[in-house]
Amino acid sequence: MSDTAASAASAASADAAELFAAAFAAAPSGLWSAPGRVNLIGEHTDYNDGFVLPFAIDHRTHAAVALRADARVRVASTFAEETVEVPLVELNDLFPSRRDEIVEWARYPLGIAWALLAHAEGIPAGADIAIASDVPVGAGLSSSAAIEGAVAMALNELWELGLSRRELAIAGRRAENDAVGAPTGIMDQMASMLGQSDAATFLDCRSLQTQSVPLGFAAAGLELLVMDTRVKHQHSTGGYGERRASCELGAATMGVSSLRDLVVDDLARAEDILDDVTFRRVRHVVTENERVLDTVEVLRARGPLAIGALLLDSHASMRDDFEISVPELDTAVATSMAAGAIGARMTGGGFGGAAIALVRHEDVTAVTEAVTVAFAEAGFAPPHIFAVHPSAGAGRVTSAH
Ligand code: ADP
Ligand code: MG
Repeated sequence: MSDTAASAASAASADAAELFAAAFAAAPSGLWSAPGRVNLIGEHTDYNDGFVLPFAIDHRTHAAVALRADARVRVASTFAEETVEVPLVELNDLFPSRRDEIVEWARYPLGIAWALLAHAEGIPAGADIAIASDVPVGAGLSSSAAIEGAVAMALNELWELGLSRRELAIAGRRAENDAVGAPTGIMDQMASMLGQSDAATFLDCRSLQTQSVPLGFAAAGLELLVMDTRVKHQHSTGGYGERRASCELGAATMGVSSLRDLVVDDLARAEDILDDVTFRRVRHVVTENERVLDTVEVLRARGPLAIGALLLDSHASMRDDFEISVPELDTAVATSMAAGAIGARMTGGGFGGAAIALVRHEDVTAVTEAVTVAFAEAGFAPPHIFAVHPSAGAGRVTSAH
């Protein structure tokens, strides 16, 4: 963990404890945290049963939590003004049908409580939950999986549910899909739960089998820069749902249960029978799955200096075939490459958020300056550019980091 990130992490855990004291006039019984993630490659493949290669980052969400004598759950966040309180027995009435009655941010922690209730015998003790985070929200770094993961780790321990990290990731997706109403896949939660330092999590979204893949960025003299465009994406609305619908249409027309079942050799037939837009959506997913498998192989055989072309091809596919890029993301990718990056691509769901660039240590300043200048010249808002480091997954905070 870098010095900057280490101090940010301890600030977020201190903030969570402080908020707990202010909101609930008591001390928490523990602190749990979960990281955001960067997806190195494999975009919009997760809900198509395909492959992804995310890694957990050194930006985390902290939850200070204590059980209550009654069966009520209260949530507070430094992100919001209000504290939200709900009796546990009412969660089953609220989610999913009446979720609109709960302010959006509180659906994440309450949604986790709801998803985990299904694993409890009877109604467990209530809980007070205070949340603080240094994961940028809406930047494509999955602040949503981080809040879900921190709360899930806490309640799993305090309610003595004994669920595995995988099961907690699945509960996180259920909360996000049904309690929040965002139709996302399982990648973010698995990355946040299973992360390891200096490694990515290769995930087969069909079997949910995972493998840890060493990244070796530091040993190769590389930094992974996040270039947050500050263009906010919105998951619950718009283009994301349309892309999912196109993928479902493409799979159904091709006679497969999901696009995972197609390979590059099937694309000629796909081009014959699909309309142009659906074909290009399908081509992105099929080629992106191949690129993830290639990236894993190249990382293992030749190391991170050799993955640049795969990252760039992924970006081009998202820009031209999946059409989820925006001018800010294209500028960040093109400019970082011109300033010496090894590879770059937009990451996350698209329509805003962040791009990543793999950059030699000595080129970090030049890349950062070039992208900042290019944004100013194009009349874009200033980007937020920072390095992230592959880090450990969710866990209990035993001492200040
Ligand atoms: P991201 O790419 O950051 O995951 P999402 O739209 O999926 O973007 O999730 C962001 C939403 O998650 C926020 O709008 C908010 O509702 C919720 N959220 C994230 N972090 C926090 C936090 N620390 N406190 C309260 N809510 C949070
Ligand atoms: Mg999210």
